[in-house]
Amino acid sequence: MSDVSMIIDGERRAAPATFGVVNPATGAVHADAPDCSREQLDEAFAAAAKAFTDWRRDEDARRAALRQASAALRGAVDRIAPVLTAEQGKPLKAARGEANGASYWLNYFAELPLQREVIQDDERARAEVVRRPVGVVAAITPWNFPVMLAAWKIGPALLAGNTMVLKPSPFTPRSTLLMAEVLAEVLPPGVLNVVSGGDELGRWMTAHPVPRKISFTGSVATGKHIAASAAPDLKRVTLELGGNDAAILLDDVNPAEITERLFSGAFTNSGQVCSAIKRLYVPQRLHGDVVDALATRAAAARVGDGMDPQTELGPVQNRPQFDRVRELVAEALAGGAKAATGGAPIDGPGYFFQPTILAGATEGTRIVDEEQFGPALPVIPYRDVDEVVARANGTMYGLSGSVWSADPDRALAVADRLDCGTAWVNTHIALGPHQPFGGVKWSGIGVENGPWGLAAYTDIQVQYVAKN
Ligand code: NAD
Repeated sequence: MSDVSMIIDGERRAAPATFGVVNPATGAVHADAPDCSREQLDEAFAAAAKAFTDWRRDEDARRAALRQASAALRGAVDRIAPVLTAEQGKPLKAARGEANGASYWLNYFAELPLQREVIQDDERARAEVVRRPVGVVAAITPWNFPVMLAAWKIGPALLAGNTMVLKPSPFTPRSTLLMAEVLAEVLPPGVLNVVSGGDELGRWMTAHPVPRKISFTGSVATGKHIAASAAPDLKRVTLELGGNDAAILLDDVNPAEITERLFSGAFTNSGQVCSAIKRLYVPQRLHGDVVDALATRAAAARVGDGMDPQTELGPVQNRPQFDRVRELVAEALAGGAKAATGGAPIDGPGYFFQPTILAGATEGTRIVDEEQFGPALPVIPYRDVDEVVARANGTMYGLSGSVWSADPDRALAVADRLDCGTAWVNTHIALGPHQPFGGVKWSGIGVENGPWGLAAYTDIQVQYVAKN
């Protein structure tokens, strides 16, 4: 039996089987998690459907419960963070930041108003647009920010009056299960059910007749399967998918001044951020300087076990992802790119890869055209702004992007031309609960966060009162 439980109808539940969870810093199984059966999933959806009847009725009670949930999570940061580091790999400080962030997000949604709008009030009628919950939500999360991304879904879905069955990634189930145990102390039974298992469990969830909405964060490939699985039943979907973000430096930047921000935009969470810088476009004249500055910074980064307080970058989270990063970098090098620093795995156990800066990789190379999702960044020269905008947009991804300049207005004019959900100026990965986040093209459908993200967990009802 696993030392962590699923939460179904407010109760801790073991599963008939368990599966092993690997610590990426060692490459060895360090713990296990329950493997939810089909019957247990049915029970979880039945509990969510039952709880929906009461939960949807009292908005004040939901706000109070979310405030309590936020406080309970804040109180459990020290318990959750080491579990998150052990399974995900990120430095303990970042794991604490993630758990605190999740608490902050829940508190934001506890206070966010639900929209109502009077659209007509005249001699004929009074008509008001109100927001109603969609019902039971099936939520599925990835392995890069399991705790934070769960909160991005739980906060707005529950505030709007929905109930939920949530499944974390099989690579990082334990921190979310622990979070669920903490939240179960303050939420009514059945409102938030958390189950764990493999991809098959995700498929059962999206095909299940009870949920009316699927909220998914993960890869483009899975997102397409989920859209197809939702279609026959016309379930609503929010899909937060992968990115291949371009950052574009304009010719007036001072490389020394922005190196640190560029490095963190690309290498935070060891590059495993959907909206990390994945391609860096630099004017030809500055290319050498930028490559050198980033290589010096990357070479100085301390890579190691997240439990070591000195660690700045943890391992790649799992073996398939580690193999993919290794393959994409090796392919670029074989095609003529040069590693200004890094370029190879780090010897020893665990999925550690050297922070890598590549010069000479360009479009047509997979590490430029696809999402690498790891600690390796291609730095690509360009000649003029029209050309670089076309190259940045010349992809089916469209999550976010950034433009960097000594003149923010000039940068903003270029950012305005990027086809993506968030366009930053002089920064990258600046996010907040008030800020709608989502992608265009293959990077997703819909947004999370802010009133727009909350609206995605509602259906509109027009309440029309005739006056005569
Ligand atoms: P993934 O798509 O492999 O898995 C995500 C989740 O989906 C897991 O819980 C998995 O078990 C489940 N799943 C897999 N196949 C399924 C299916 N057919 N039906 C239902 N569920 C299924 O993604 P991942 O490798 O865990 O995460 C990395 C990806 O997530 C990257 O592409 C990254 O860019 C993306 N991501 C996007 C955002 C965003 O907000 N846009 C945020 C974080 C990560």
